Parts: sequence; C-alpha cells; structure tokens
Amino acid sequence: MTREEVENGRDDMLIDGCEAEQRLGNAVPDGFNVNYLKVYYGKLFPHGDIFKWMSYGNDGKHPACDQSYFGRREFSFTLDNDIYLRFQSFNSVSELENSIKEKCPFKIDIGPVYSVEPAKRNAYTPDKVIPVERELVFDIDITDYDDVRYCCSGADVCLDCWPLMTVAIKVIDTALRDDFGFNHILWVYSGRRGVHCWVCDGKARRLTDEQRAAIADYFRLYKGNENNNKKVSLVGHALHPFLIRSYTEVLRYFFEEKLLCSQKIFSTEERFEKILEMIPDESITSELRGKWQENRRSSISKDDINVVRWEQLKHMLQSKKQKAQGLRMCVEEIVFSYSYPRLDMEVSKRMNHLLKAPFCVHPKTGRVCVPIDPNCCEEFDPTTVPTLSKLLEELNMGGLRADVDNEWDRTSLGKSVRFFRSSFLQPLLKSCKEEMESSYNSKLQQSKNSLSW
Ligand SMILES: [Zn+2]
Repeated sequence: MTREEVENGRDDMLIDGCEAEQRLGNAVPDGFNVNYLKVYYGKLFPHGDIFKWMSYGNDGKHPACDQSYFGRREFSFTLDNDIYLRFQSFNSVSELENSIKEKCPFKIDIGPVYSVEPAKRNAYTPDKVIPVERELVFDIDITDYDDVRYCCSGADVCLDCWPLMTVAIKVIDTALRDDFGFNHILWVYSGRRGVHCWVCDGKARRLTDEQRAAIADYFRLYKGNENNNKKVSLVGHALHPFLIRSYTEVLRYFFEEKLLCSQKIFSTEERFEKILEMIPDESITSELRGKWQENRRSSISKDDINVVRWEQLKHMLQSKKQKAQGLRMCVEEIVFSYSYPRLDMEVSKRMNHLLKAPFCVHPKTGRVCVPIDPNCCEEFDPTTVPTLSKLLEELNMGGLRADVDNEWDRTSLGKSVRFFRSSFLQPLLKSCKEEMESSYNSKLQQSKNSLSW
C-alpha cells in the first residue's frame, strides 16, 4: 500500500472524540506485513470453516465418508518474497491450521481434489496424479472493463464502477441457479478489483473440463477485439431467454439508473463517438452527432446530458420508422456492451486452475476477501471491507481474552464469518449429508438385492 493510499484511507474516516481516545491506545498503523498476518492467522482466520467446507461432509462418522477426501485437495501458498509452494496437502484441520500459522502465506490458493495426495505426488507416475473434482469457479476482474469505465482504470475501483461487479453477480448467480439448477454458490470479494464465484454442488464439482467450457461459453457474449468496434453482436439471432432476462431484470436498470450518469457515457465527443460507431446507419449517426455537437455549445437543458442523449438515441433507433430489426437491436447492443459480465474464461474451463481462498488478505489493499451476499450485493461496498489493521485494532480494543474461541466474533469480520456459515456452509453440509446418505442406502439396497438373488 502506498503512502498516498494510506492517507486516502484515513481521510474519509470521521473520528468522534470517544472513538479517537480509544484509537490512541489501540491504533494499528495501516498496512500489510508478516507480523499482522501472524496475528490474523493466529486469531481470526476461520481455519475450521475452510476445513469443513473443503471436506464436504467426509470428515464425519458416516460409513460412506471418504476419509481421504480432504487430504487429496491441493492448497498452494504464496510466501513473502514471492516464494510459491504448490501441491500442499493436509490430512486434518490441525495440519492445515499449523501449516498456515507456521508459513504465514501472503496468499492461499485452492486447487482441485486429486486422485492421490498432492504432497505425495512424486511417489506416483504422472498418469496416476489426476484432478478428479473441483468447484466450478468464475473470476471477474474489473480491469477487463477498462474500455467502458471512465472513473478508474487498472486495479483501481470506486463506487462509480463497482456496480459493474454487482451486475455480474446478479446475472451469473441467477443463471447458475435458474438455468443450471445449482444451489450452493459462494461469492467472494477478491480483495481489490473483482469477485470470485465458487459453485460447490456435487454435480458442479464433478464436471469435466469439457462441461466446464460449455458452461463458460453459455455466458460468453463479449466477443470484441481490436479490429472490431462492436463488442457485442445480437443481430441475426433470436435473443436467448437468458439474455432477455438478464437485460430486462438487470442490465437495463443498471445501465440507465447507474452507469449512464456515473460513467458519463455520453459526456464528451470521444465517448459518444464510440457509441455512434455501434450504429450501422449513416443518416442516424450524423443526425445524432449534429444534435450533440450543437447542444454541447448551448447547453439548454437542466437534465443530465447523458440521460438526454441516451433518450434521443433510443427514440431514433426505436421509432416506428426503423423497421429493420438490426437498428432496433442497437439499443440492446449498447447496453450489453457497457454492462454485461466479462469473465476470465480460462479460470472456469479447467479443473486444475487455482483460485484464491476466501478470507485471505489482499497484500496491496490489506482487505479481507469476504463473502458477498448475492441477494443484496448492491449494498456491498468494497471501500468498507475490513482491513487487516482495522481488525487488529478491534482485537486490541477488546483486550486480551484467553477464554474466547471465536475472536473474530468481536471484530468486524464476525458478520462475514457468520454469513459464510449460515448462508453457505450449513446448507451445503446438510445436502452433502443427504447425498451421502442416499448413495449409501442405494448401495446397501443393491448389495442386499444381489445377496437375496
Ligand atoms: Zn471507478
């Protein structure tokens, strides 16, 4: 974290007298370092919850449990100085916890479940070490939207461009549940500039690479390249019901109510020219261009110029004169271009792709990768996510307590851990248990049948 970022972070904190007094005694300077991280892994990181999640019910007493399951999962640690430890695996929660505390990784990644323990892979020939299970994952990074956001670029995000991530969560979450029938979906803030999605249903974990690629392709719409101004092409196809629903339920609202004005999409000639390039009709574009260049000189209306220009564009393209379906579709194409989710396809397509574990801390921002509730993701504010130093400060305020198990409970991380448990982990483990029970019973029935026969 640069000094500038540290100061910016401090600037918007209003401290009243009482809080200020407390802070003097317990203040923890902003930042990210091994010492902070040691306290975090020692007192706050929910090792047990990660273990329970990654065990998928196989840590229980049920005879159908696969006791080797957790031990075949790859973890990968990135240490200080970019030392990269791949193929770590552990046979119990205490092994996992001790290793994390000892190595104090700057980043923990989670890979697939292999056919054998990854840590012992050298004892096998390569063809015996194969990934057999993996959550279906999605990685959405706001840097992929740099051509449609004007407030920030690169790794920066603010509340004006974050709604692009909200749109992505809403569109993808709905499709995963309604179109694919998945139920156990975890959304996580990546700590800096995007979101991750973990689909954890049994049938998702067992997808082949080909099936993963097919699902990723279902979401693929962004086909832009440097030689093509059109990022999206909807013409010539009946719009898929998924796209119609995404448009009417999410994209149109976010485009018109948020992005249009917050990104000032029509505010300069350079910006509106980019949109006019998407309209393949010279007479319309020159008429709009004429209007816009004129009212730039004499701004008569008190309404937001972006709203005015958008309405004019819509009016022209959707008027009855425009019989050609292609032109009417231009409105939708523009909305899709500026708001539709852009996925990092490679992450989703392959089982053995690593993805950062929830509850890691991002080294550049110091922010914890907390879960996001898709049901109220519009309320999620990346600028208020707990930072490492804030959490340590909260720990300090509470004083030393040897008797408390869940130290996170008295910090602002508590809300996130409770949400992880109640909305994700508990329902997931319940259905793992049911799945285990029913497959065990049917096997039992089969063997009974074969005996009686
Ligand atoms: Zn921004």
